[in-house]
This record gives sequence, C-alpha cells and structure tokens, in this order.
Amino acid sequence: MKLSFKPYDLQLKHVFTIASNSRTTTPVILVEIKYEGVVGYGEASMPPYLGESHITAADFLSKINLEQFATPFLLDDILTYLDGLADGNYAAKAAVDIALHDLVGKLTGQPWYKLWGLNPEKAPHTSFTIGMDRPEVVRQKVIEADPYTILKVKLGGVNDMEMIETIRSVTDKPLCVDVNQGWNDKYQALDLIHWLKEKGIAFVEQPMSKKRLDDNAWLTENSPLPIIADEAVQTVNDVLPLNGVYSGINIKLMKCGGMRAAHKMIILARCLNMKVMIGCMTATSCTISAASQLSPMVDWADLDGNLLISNDPFKGVTIVNGKVILNDKPGIGIEKL
Ligand code: MG
Repeated sequence: MKLSFKPYDLQLKHVFTIASNSRTTTPVILVEIKYEGVVGYGEASMPPYLGESHITAADFLSKINLEQFATPFLLDDILTYLDGLADGNYAAKAAVDIALHDLVGKLTGQPWYKLWGLNPEKAPHTSFTIGMDRPEVVRQKVIEADPYTILKVKLGGVNDMEMIETIRSVTDKPLCVDVNQGWNDKYQALDLIHWLKEKGIAFVEQPMSKKRLDDNAWLTENSPLPIIADEAVQTVNDVLPLNGVYSGINIKLMKCGGMRAAHKMIILARCLNMKVMIGCMTATSCTISAASQLSPMVDWADLDGNLLISNDPFKGVTIVNGKVILNDKPGIGIEKL
C-alpha cells in the first residue's frame, strides 16, 4: 500500500465572505493510496482560518508509512496509527481516511452508503450557500442558485435583515442561516431569530462565539428555531459536552478527521437526540462525494463546496433538483477527470 500526495489550489467562482474573512482560493492536498493496482482518492481541504496548510499537511503526510499494513481493510488499525502520529492535522487525516474508504469500497465493489446499509432515497436536499455581498450581487447569486431548493445565508455582518429582505425579494424558498459566531448580544440574537422565523428560516448555525456556552445554551432553550453548532464542534469528543447547549451539530469531514469519525459522531448525536447536519469547506467532488455517502443519516446537508469552485479535478455525486444523488460507483463514487 503506497501513499502519494500533491498540493492543489481551488479557484472560487465568487469572492467568499463570511463573518471572519474573505478569500478567492482554498489550498487543498490531493492524496492517492495504491494497493494491488487499485487507487483510492482522498483530499484535505484547508481554509486558512483552521490552521492547516500545504506545508503542515505535507509534513504530516510525509510521516505516514502504510507499507507496514498488509491490507487497506485494516481501517481501524490504520486510522488509530494515524491519530498516534501527531495531534491535530484533521484535514490531512481526513485525506488519508477518505482515500482508504475509497480504496476499500473499490476492492469490495460497493459504494459506502451500501456498505453502511443506507437508503439512497433518504439522501437529503443540499443547501447552496449565499455569502455576504452587495444587494445586486446577492440577488444575482440567488438567481444562479435556481436549481437548489434550500439556500444557506451567511449572516453576522452589519446588514443581516437587509440580506434576508434582499433574498426574500427574489425567492420564497426555505432558507437557513449561518452566523459564524457573528452575534454578540443574546437578547438581540433572540429577537432576530424570532424575526427570522417569520421570514421562513429553518435553523440557525453557530449564532454566537463557541466560547460562550451559557449564552448559546440560553439561546437554544429560548429559540423558536433549532440552533446548530459548527465552530463549537470538531471531533467526536466534542459532542457529549454540547448536549443541551445546541439542538444539533454540523459535522464536516475536514474537522473531525474523515468518514469513520463522522459516522461515529452521527451515531452519538442520534443517541443524544440531537439534530445532525453534514457540511463542508470549499472542496472538490472527492470530499463532497465522501461526505454524501453519510448523507442519508442526517437531517440537513450543506454539500455545495464543489459547486463553488471552477477547477474540480473529479466527477462524483451529483445534485438533481437540489437533492443529493448517490451513484452506484464503488468507494466514494468518484472518477478522476
Ligand atoms: Mg458554518
């Protein structure tokens, strides 16, 4: 079993602005694991605010020796070994995890949603993200998002109500909002959430700083809409302490270390009666197709990361009339272009 990797830069179709920053590219590392002539593909997507980079990922991936493992079917042993190599490096670990899952799926001839016993009909509709921008640009983005049935709106700027009113001037589709920790006052936040409910918003993602557990718990208790943790939740270890603080969690492969960790998090959250969303960074169809394999298990999907880039090197899971369509290709369901 041999691992190789190369750095790559994703070109974003639009400048992407959230509460904390703006950018036009996202660094990723593309990973391949070869075993008996079969190749599994993986990816680490590393938006700069998460602290990983081409350099840190290459450094971590260089330490890995897969030749000590007889077969890729030793997923548990291999992923435990990876965790022991260094702390953190979740995107780099996810890249290896995804490539191993792709490889194992290809060797068994089945896609992962089938190996997990999931019904592809239950794959959710995905939201499409509308970043903050001038009203005329927002209106144009909403028109371009016509095939999607749910829009995710980035809030936490200075013109949140104007953003929603602008979108409502062109569509009455269901919306969800992502504040990216941008609200500071819990009373104002609750007033705004009541107003958002009237505007047809389905849920609110990460309204306040992840550090303010009590304020987020108070909001969750009083909010008429579900409050979903994103920045506050990274790995499986974060789920239990957030029970009662948020209504649910947003799981991302790049935060938690890959498909196996995400699968564990979904099961734990369900045991705690929490809502589950599966989300993504800007990424290629590799990461998106990998995350989609789990999507029949979740309440909401936000798997548009590949739709926001112009240089996707893979073809994978598709979106038809807003719904995630899982294909019959083995592994994570992708082809290299
Ligand atoms: Mg978010």
